[in-house]
Amino acid sequence: MKIPCSQLQALHRLLKQRQDLRNQLERGPRQLAAKAAMVASALAGLDAAKLKLRELKMACDRMQLQLRDRENKIAGLETKMNQAASNREYQTLKEQIAADKQANNVLSDEILETLEQIDAAVKGVAEAEAKHKVMQAEEATFKQQTTQRLEVVKSELQRVSEAYKAAELLLPEEFTPEYLRVVNARNDEALAGVENGTCGGCYHVLTPKVVDQLRMDNVMFCQSCGALLYLGGDD
Ligand SMILES: [Zn+2]
Repeated sequence: MKIPCSQLQALHRLLKQRQDLRNQLERGPRQLAAKAAMVASALAGLDAAKLKLRELKMACDRMQLQLRDRENKIAGLETKMNQAASNREYQTLKEQIAADKQANNVLSDEILETLEQIDAAVKGVAEAEAKHKVMQAEEATFKQQTTQRLEVVKSELQRVSEAYKAAELLLPEEFTPEYLRVVNARNDEALAGVENGTCGGCYHVLTPKVVDQLRMDNVMFCQSCGALLYLGGDD
């Protein structure tokens, strides 16, 4: 069985092109999904930052309300103290006022601390918002570019597939079943170019006899990996 090496080389080139284009088409949706996941993660970060800010503000409001209530209570106690009938009552009220004032001092410190946390949380929300916007813009650009690119890949794949089918039809009819068996099993690894006496598929060093047979355009398979061999390199 004789098939010119140049014919096999051309077939292999088209097979590899077809496979590469198929891989690109397959990768497209995965790449888009990965970008979408990044946007979703940025949005989750933004939601978490907003929730944190809301919780801090609520805690601060609660503490400020508590502070005011206690201030009112202190004012009431002070009025009572000034109108105290006995020294004992006066002393008791004085101690109560001192305790409440002390409690409010502690609370004021806590409020200041919380206000600082709110400032940081506001910054956190702004940063998360900016990050989300950047991600969204990136995703939109990537989606547009990828969709356009995949359209090109699709039409290229169609062109290459047709060229490949046409090249396949040029093979000797009696060899076609064997050829299809190898290609169906190994796809673009069904063929391998030979360079410097070595199989381009598995780097097995071929015997001089095999190389001689290839020079005479005889169909030869690699003894090691089973690839259909041709001379002229695996380009
Ligand atoms: Zn091999």
